[in-house]
Amino acid sequence: MRKICLIAGAALCLTLCGCGKREYTQSLFAMDTVMNFTIYAENDAALSDVKTEIERMDALLDRGNENGEIYAVNKNKTAEVSAETADLIRAAVEISEKTDGAFDISMAAVSDLWGFYGGNFRVPADSELQTALSGAGYEKIRLDGNKITIPQNAAIDLGGIGKGCASDRAADILKNSGVKSAVMSLGGNVYTLGKRPDGEEWKIGIADPRDTSSVIGTVKVSDTAVVTSGGYQRFFESGGRTYHHIIDPATGKSAESGLSSVTIVSKSSTSADGLSTALFVKGLEDSVRLWRENGEFEAVFVTSDGGIFITEGLSDTFETERGYEIIKRGI
Ligand code: AMP
Ligand code: MG
Repeated sequence: MRKICLIAGAALCLTLCGCGKREYTQSLFAMDTVMNFTIYAENDAALSDVKTEIERMDALLDRGNENGEIYAVNKNKTAEVSAETADLIRAAVEISEKTDGAFDISMAAVSDLWGFYGGNFRVPADSELQTALSGAGYEKIRLDGNKITIPQNAAIDLGGIGKGCASDRAADILKNSGVKSAVMSLGGNVYTLGKRPDGEEWKIGIADPRDTSSVIGTVKVSDTAVVTSGGYQRFFESGGRTYHHIIDPATGKSAESGLSSVTIVSKSSTSADGLSTALFVKGLEDSVRLWRENGEFEAVFVTSDGGIFITEGLSDTFETERGYEIIKRGI
């Protein structure tokens, strides 16, 4: 017996799930997205701790919050930040290095030209993009302990990795509170804690980029993050063309790599979040090369023409009614 009833901002006690525990849910809006948390526990205390922590992290990392640390970095170009912010920036730079710069948190000024942060969408001139790009580049970010320094004409944006970090943090809070079964969705970032109350693994749907009310397939997971990046998640149209929010740092324009979405399945939400954004930029071929060199994640790719490709490690857990190809580790 399972019945979900969500009311924004409130933790609700719902039906008994047959395991002596109850289902409690919490939904909130933070980090520019709707977040939903469902736990199976004896009470809902952990949910209010999660909400408090997510709101604290949002305030810390939102580059538009004048009291936040990223705002201070962007304004002063150098700032002493908390260890957690420094660690997240360090993790972001590591993903940049691993993906040859496909992931780059220094694209904030470029993203702003397109209006993706504030919502004032427009198509910038190439000359504007070149100016913004000349200040950017993850390799110019300096980290000395917790002191961050960025170039005078650069700005950073943790939108491509912050929700993953928030998921990891929420999962830690739940685990430390003794919660053994939970699922959370922070925009395109899903994290599953333990197994479902009936002892089965969680079945997580991967949205169809062409029709987000349906799924292209599902993966069965536990204690795992399932994070999707796709051009369909935020975009605008102008002059008959569609422009989306994932920027190719090589051009300053929406990445056009032949992919509609990338889903990363990994133990770490932070790394899955950064990687899903990066691999969306890289495209299928380069992503497969990176996956073959790296044992830490699995992936589902949906190409612009609707093709589905999954990495070998998901072959037992991926279910779909459509045709798909399995990418093998050995060539
Ligand atoms: P995601 O939804 O995790 O794929 O991340 C997309 C968000 O990350 C955008 O809304 C921007 O804030 C930021 N972003 C866009 N392009 C990049 C990029 N190439 N590297 C890092 N962050 C990016
Ligand atoms: Mg991401």
